[in-house]
This record gives sequence, structure tokens and C-alpha cells, in this order.
Amino acid sequence: MTDIEIAQRVTAKHIREVAAKLEITEDKLEYYGNEKAKLPLDLIDEEKVDKSNLILVTAITPTPAGEGKTTNVIGLSDGLNLIGKKSVVVIREPSLGPVFGMKGGAAGGGHSQVIPMVDINLHFTGDFHAIAMANNLLAALIDNNLQSKTKNLGIDPRSVIWKRCMDMNDRALRNIVSGLSGKTGGIPRETGFNITAASEIMAILCLCKDLNDLQEMCGNIYIGDTFDGRAVYAKELNSSGAIAVLLKDAIKPNLVQTLEGNPALIHGGPFANIAQGTNSIIATKMGMSLGEYVITEAGFAADLGAEKFLNIKCRKAGLSPKAVVVVATIRALKYHGGKSLDALTNEDLEALEKGMPNLEKHIESIQSFGLPVVVSVNSFSSDTDAEKQLIFDHCEKLGVPVSISNGWAEGGAGCTDLAEKVVEAAASCASDFTPTYDLKDAPLNKIEKICKTIYGADGVELTAKAKNQLKRFEDLGYGNLPICMAKTQKSLSDNEKLIGRPKNFDIHIREFEIAAGAGFIIPIAGNMLRMPGLPATPSSERIEIDGEGEISGLF
Ligand code: ADP
Ligand code: MG
Repeated sequence: MTDIEIAQRVTAKHIREVAAKLEITEDKLEYYGNEKAKLPLDLIDEEKVDKSNLILVTAITPTPAGEGKTTNVIGLSDGLNLIGKKSVVVIREPSLGPVFGMKGGAAGGGHSQVIPMVDINLHFTGDFHAIAMANNLLAALIDNNLQSKTKNLGIDPRSVIWKRCMDMNDRALRNIVSGLSGKTGGIPRETGFNITAASEIMAILCLCKDLNDLQEMCGNIYIGDTFDGRAVYAKELNSSGAIAVLLKDAIKPNLVQTLEGNPALIHGGPFANIAQGTNSIIATKMGMSLGEYVITEAGFAADLGAEKFLNIKCRKAGLSPKAVVVVATIRALKYHGGKSLDALTNEDLEALEKGMPNLEKHIESIQSFGLPVVVSVNSFSSDTDAEKQLIFDHCEKLGVPVSISNGWAEGGAGCTDLAEKVVEAAASCASDFTPTYDLKDAPLNKIEKICKTIYGADGVELTAKAKNQLKRFEDLGYGNLPICMAKTQKSLSDNEKLIGRPKNFDIHIREFEIAAGAGFIIPIAGNMLRMPGLPATPSSERIEIDGEGEISGLF
């Protein structure tokens, strides 16, 4: 059965029943149909946040096969509910780009999914639309200012870094010329589109505390320079109020349910490559105000997702997880052991053993934060007993609790052992996490600490261009911001071909970007696309809807 077939066979509860499990009264629910509701920010209760258990799900270095973080988040939360804990899933909203590009949704898989999965994967409650409009309002205001006679800020059109955005993989819009057609058509200039998930507005929405904080952060967006080199900020266009108005509903978390009828908050979806790659602080805090456990995820592997989750998001929010689950698959570990992608379903203990150092490195990275780790081996039908035993023994030797989880095939029932181990690990957590770097460290020092401690690199190299940019950002007063690394997710290094646990390498920073509103410096190692393209055979070719509205081919 496909994911969508499994989801279509389940009768969803009315969302009011799901809310009731969290003791949310009906007057708090802003209904979007029967299965979705937005929740007001006043449900956040800092005292309850302090008492709740935040659990981060991360993974080993991913392979094209996909490791199953979201599937594990949902399975684990359903598993916790089965053993009598009040647990809430808190995850990101999917972007339409991947939905119609590469097959693979972001609403879990098999018997560990959130529903209504079709809605969640499509327009959902319109948050992405609102974010795109807020982004594009700022873009329109900039172009309007460029041609203004009375309020012209003197912005050099060639320096404008703010782009328009759209939630679609559309490579043809990556670089464009706008403002054509003479005097009434604006000032011609080179610009482009980002995908909505890569917009700084998305990053801000997910890092802000409330509407006031959102407005302040949006005002701090750095948009470009004047002809004489002065930095220009969004607030100079008096844009923050209007942007915040556009986001008045998008700022509220969305309540849905798992296939087993347990609560899930889905809110915000920043890219994991050039942004923090995790749901909003608001949703995490709301989940923690409502449940004993909040199970959440951060994009890509622990080197990117967990690092940014902790050093950027949790630091800003004043949160600290009680335990971190590292998801591994036997298939991916064999791949890291040198086995080719088409042979991963054959038993190979040697390759599995050889791939283990990748898992070890990610475990060490989590331990560098001082947090308890639990390994979850996401079972695939091709895994053999001997392979499971090997990974089990290996983790025992490392002294790390390990569970063979089966949320994909069995839902929560396949994750009760994992749930027990997570409860135990969380109870053992003695203190808040130790960040990898201090915000007061010099930016280059922060980057070095990430590269050495988390990636296992020897050092960092900057191009001349990168050095100049960093100097400028420090001069502008951004030296105390956290770092949001943009690096390939396919390797611990910046070379995607280096699988396993690479040694003896440097990280090469080609250039820097700044998200002055969201509040982080982005060192770019390699080629990062803010506007992806579609593959040769997009998954859209398989998606259909019949006369009754029944959808197929969407996962
Ligand atoms: P991630 O969050 O790490 O990107 P997902 O949980 O979204 O990964 O899973 C990626 C894909 O792999 C999904 O299509 C999901 O249905 C599938 N998948 C996950 N776990 C399993 C499993 N144990 N067996 C088969 N398919 C799985
Ligand atoms: Mg995921």
C-alpha cells in the first residue's frame, strides 16, 4: 500500500476531539474544516514549557534512500501515547517544491503519518502563501522605492539582495531581469526568485516569539546598499506593520493528528540548507505547554539539523531538549560502508561494520552538547536478524541505548520500546545543553568550532571574497550572531563524495550571506540553491484526481 492509500483508509477524528486530548477548549480553536485548526499564541505557558520534555529526532548522514526522521517522530509520539505519556508531534510544514519534484512527502510514511496528508502537503492552512506575500510585498516596496522621486533612499539597484519568492521548484526564475518596459515599468535590474521555504521571512516566522518580535525582526532585514555604500534595512521602507498584518494567521500553529488520532502541531518550514530547518519556536513552546513530551525533528543529519537546532533555535528560545534520537538505517550504514545504492537490500555485515563510524560520529556530536542519545534503527523489510544484532551489539559497546523501531510498518505499536528508552534517557538528563560556541566568540572562531567539533574537520579555509564579506558583516555589527552553516547534507565534509566518517579535510567557505532579520550569518560551503529545479521526470506526472475528487500518485 502507498502512503496515500494508508492515509485514505483511516477515518480522521474531528479536530475538536484531538484538541480535547490536550485540554484545549473549543473556544480556542480556529477551524479550517473538520480536521485542521489554528491555535492562538496565548496557549503558550512558560511554566509548563519548563516542565515538558523536548525530544529531538535527528539522523545519520542521509542517502538518497531517506532515513525516516519524520516517520520516527510520528511513530515515537504515537508510541509514547500508547505507553500512557501525553506526547505531541511538532514538525515543519512541507513545501510544494518537493511534492511535485522528487517523490516523497514530509508528512511521515507508512503507518506513521500525519493527516489530512493531502492537505498538509498542498496548501494546508495557507501559511506558505502568506509568507510568500509578505516576502513579495517587501520586494515590491523596494522596486517602488528605486523609482521614487520623493522618498528615494538612493539604493543601488545592483546591490539589492532581497528577491521575490514562490513555493515551486522553478529554475527558470532563479535569475531574471525585472523592471522592463520603459519609464512606467520600474527600474530594470537583475534579480530572481527563491523558493518560499528559503525566504528570510520564513526563517523569521520560525524564530520569533510573537507578533511584536516578528515586526522587529522583519524591520532588521538587510536589503542592499545605497550608492555610497550605506546598508539599507527593511524598516526604512516602513514595511514591518504591513508584513506582520499579512502574517497574522500564519504565526499561529496548526493542529492536526497522527493516523492514531494523537495531536500534531505543524508550523513553518524553513529550508535546512541555508536556514535553520526546523519548525517555529512558537509551535515548539506551544507543544511543550500542552504535552508532557514534544517530539520534533530538524532537517538533514545531526551535523546540520541538530547543530542548528541547538545552537540557533534552542539558544534563542531558551529551550533545551531532554534527549536526542539519532535515526539510522541498516541500508544507509551499508552505503556508508561502501556498498552501492542498488545492492543495499543484500545482507552485508562487513559493509555494515565499515559504515558504523558515521553513526558513531553523530553520536559523539550529540554527546558534545552533553545530551543523552538514543539510537533508533528504522527497520526496513530487507534488514536481516544478523544485521540488527550487529548494530545492537555495536551500540551496547558504545554504551548508547538502541531500539529497533518499526513505526513505518506498525505505527506506535512498533515504537513502544523506543518510547520506553526515550523516557528513560530524558529522565537521566541532568542539565541544559552546552552550545558548541559562545555568541561572543569571533565569527571565524564560531565556524571553526562547528567544523572541528561537529564535522570532524581539521580547519576552515575562506576565499578572499568570503573574508571581505565577513569583515563587512562584522563592521555592520553582526559579529555576535549565531552561525547557520550551508553545507552539503550528503557528507560530514563539504565534499558530497566523502561518505562514512571522513578524516583529514578542511571546510571551504566560498562566500557569506547574512540574514540580519532572522539573526544569523550564513557561511556557504559549496553551491547552495535557494530556488531548486524539477527533475527530468517530475513526480507531478504521476499525480491524478478522479471525478469524485479521489487523489492518487501523491506519494
Ligand atoms: P526524513 O524525515 O528523514 O526525510 P521520512 O520520514 O520523510 O524521512 O522518510 C522518507 C521516506 O522513506 C518516506 O517516503 C517514508 O515513507 C519512507 N520510509 C521511512 N521509513 C521507512 C521504512 N522503515 N520502510 C519503508 N519506507 C520507509
Ligand atoms: Mg523529515
